[in-house]
Amino acid sequence: MSQFPISCQWNSSGTILIKFKYYFPRILLSVNGKLTALCQPSKVSNWRTLTPLLQESMEPGYLTLYNSGELERRAQALEARLAACDICPRECRVNRLKSEPGYCHSGRLPIVSAVCAHHGEEPAISGIRGSGTVFFGNCNMRCVYCQNHQISQSWKKQRSNEMDCHTLAEKMLYLQDGLGCHNINFVSPSHFVPQLLRAVVEAVPMGLRVPLVYNSNGYDSIASLKEIDGVISIYLPDLRYASDKWAKKFSHAPHYVVRARQAIKEMYRQVGDLEVDESDLAERGLIVRHLILPNGLADSEESLAWLVREVSPAVTVSIMSQYMPMHRASRIPLLSRKITIDEHEAVLKLITDLGVENGWVQEMGAAEEYLPDFERKDYPFSSTNSQNDIPPRSATNYLSYTGNTTCNYS
Ligand code: SF4
Repeated sequence: MSQFPISCQWNSSGTILIKFKYYFPRILLSVNGKLTALCQPSKVSNWRTLTPLLQESMEPGYLTLYNSGELERRAQALEARLAACDICPRECRVNRLKSEPGYCHSGRLPIVSAVCAHHGEEPAISGIRGSGTVFFGNCNMRCVYCQNHQISQSWKKQRSNEMDCHTLAEKMLYLQDGLGCHNINFVSPSHFVPQLLRAVVEAVPMGLRVPLVYNSNGYDSIASLKEIDGVISIYLPDLRYASDKWAKKFSHAPHYVVRARQAIKEMYRQVGDLEVDESDLAERGLIVRHLILPNGLADSEESLAWLVREVSPAVTVSIMSQYMPMHRASRIPLLSRKITIDEHEAVLKLITDLGVENGWVQEMGAAEEYLPDFERKDYPFSSTNSQNDIPPRSATNYLSYTGNTTCNYS
């Protein structure tokens, strides 16, 4: 293997891939004399993918679908399925239009527990102005270590966060125009796909234009995903387990492995590899999150090997190191501690050994920095009460990536 610490290659889509083996200061790259990318590699991960080059600005697909009437047709089709709900893989068949409770305890209206500009997502998602995050309440999984358990597993309390889809659309416009967010980031949307799509139908004539991010736990229905084909620009699913035993025991999610893998393949079919603009912001594509769990419970080798083998070596993977024994996990011996440095380094080695080409790695210590508290409804990620108090942070500060606050541990 070459000892030179940087390598460049063109890939099949005409983009350039830069890999760093060691820490380098900021580097400017130019192609044909034209400035194309600004790069500041991570000294943590020795692993940094750079910018597909010269992407033309993309218009979100939902605008075309809206104009043709297809978006309305799909919203109606999804809403009809609420009468015998099969919106997620649990297929409870309850009538949510009449508020019959299924596993997720969610009815006809969306439950929106927090809305904010999020500066702690992956650099390509948060950018400089933040990701416009919509936290849906309740969940179709029950992770014992959920860091969002205040909103994901408190269904009685969450009833007070119900709102109609028009109000949700107004909040999306506030994120886009009021806060200047780069995208709308739907967190834990798997049980609210019809409501999500209806809100998009409402928001387009109001002026919605930014890309939509589907930020899920991976426990998604293929039929539901097909209805948002062309609507979602960026898929951001978890791949949590490679063992149904642990998925059932710690997340109450039967058949999680096959369900999540099928969902990720469908997402990849729709959007392909990550594409970013000249500012390194995601425009389209798949980013798979993999949370390192203590004691090897995430079976990282098996999941990462599957991604490389069955999805693509070029798939973008976000390795998350922020596990904390939240919620009920402190009482479960296998889950009652943070991950160790050895566990972290073992996954970093896997990335190299398995040939995972693109993505980010959270530094150790990321856990404490970005724990949300949803009692602070205006801005769950800070002791301040308002996101207006949060200074904007540049995405380039995140190349050594310490700040991911996933919302899907539920
Ligand atoms: S969305 Fe809720 S009610 Fe519908 S199948 Fe899933 S868990 Fe059941």
